[in-house]
Amino acid sequence: MKIMSINAGSSSLKFSLFDMTTEEVLISGLFERIGIEASCYTLKYKGDKIKVETDLPDHSVAVKILLEKLIELEVISTLEEIEGVGHRIVHGGDKYTESVMVTDEVVDDIIRFSDFAPLHNPAHAICIKAFREVLPKTPMVVVFDTAFHQTIEKSRFLYPVPYSWYENYHVRKYGAHGTSHRYIATKVAEELGRDDLSIISCHLGNGGSITAIKNGKCVDTSMGFTPHAGIMMGTRSGDIDVSIVPYVMEKEGKSASEIMNDLNKKSGFLGISELSSDSRDIEDGIKEGNEKCILAEEMFVNSVVKYIAQYYVLLGKVDAICFTAGIGENSVDARLEIVEKLACLGIKLDIEKNNVRGKFAKISSDDSTVEMYVVPTNEELMIAKDTMDIINK
Ligand code: ADP
Repeated sequence: MKIMSINAGSSSLKFSLFDMTTEEVLISGLFERIGIEASCYTLKYKGDKIKVETDLPDHSVAVKILLEKLIELEVISTLEEIEGVGHRIVHGGDKYTESVMVTDEVVDDIIRFSDFAPLHNPAHAICIKAFREVLPKTPMVVVFDTAFHQTIEKSRFLYPVPYSWYENYHVRKYGAHGTSHRYIATKVAEELGRDDLSIISCHLGNGGSITAIKNGKCVDTSMGFTPHAGIMMGTRSGDIDVSIVPYVMEKEGKSASEIMNDLNKKSGFLGISELSSDSRDIEDGIKEGNEKCILAEEMFVNSVVKYIAQYYVLLGKVDAICFTAGIGENSVDARLEIVEKLACLGIKLDIEKNNVRGKFAKISSDDSTVEMYVVPTNEELMIAKDTMDIINK
């Protein structure tokens, strides 16, 4: 069974075509700069990387080229071979608690929830429409990034603000990265052969979030009403005192949206280091003794440790702490610095085992009170699996 997994942004479209009998990726690729100049696409197929610069005025052109290429490269011989398409959706509001089959109502809802994800949800809807035009008979499924967090209890998803904000405007915690955290929980349960685990899942990429999971269900997560909240990130501040916003607005004569842009795009690693949002540049800076890089790394580690400690207490007994995404999977140093600060809980790394990048591995020492794992995330596979399961129901 061949299933396509789609992740569309406002100017991009990422895809992977899976053979679900082996869970192997047959071909994957990225269409970039859709609707802007210098657009191009890259395909990864049989170990080769093909890059083509071409006009991509909108998502439907990208979808057409993508399907033509699959036939041209003989990945498939007819479009009917694609038995399902799964779309990643950033926001499902508080309506969607799991993945569902695409219907007109679902597409309308995705557009309706655009207020919560103005850059993403409209693009998802456009992309679904483009696929439905070319593959009118192919079943399609949507996988919401917020769905996994819908099991969070009300006392944890509400903010202590006027209750009417929740009733009238749906102000509450929604979280993000749900598909990744759900993949981590599923993978660790599979590897350990148990589904009654309490897990702290640390998705540390350019965007980052930490989630407390019990028996496969989300109990709490660090991102909030939007992905601004929680730990320090590449360019996002994470949690700050909201009074800073009007204070700096007045000092710099900026609008609220300008300040939000500063908090979204000019903060985090980039804001503190004044050098880069990329943790590899920060690590290089640290080696050269750059004080702002040292400070940025320390602040990042502190913010991660704060959430791990909080969720350790929340879960009561933790079976596994998992590290995933760019930094979590690859940065030996970041993991080391984070776990060093958990020593008071008897949580310890095995320094040699921690010297691992991008593959599933146990990294805790034998005498650690909590097991720790590096778990490469695979949101694309999770989307394809959901799509297959729903189609087969
Ligand atoms: P996102 O999907 O949120 O854009 P990623 O999960 O790709 O982000 O993570 C990007 C981050 O991962 C960057 O800060 C990058 O520096 C970091 N990263 C990727 N590879 C490595 C590596 N080998 N060592 C340290 N950090 C890495």
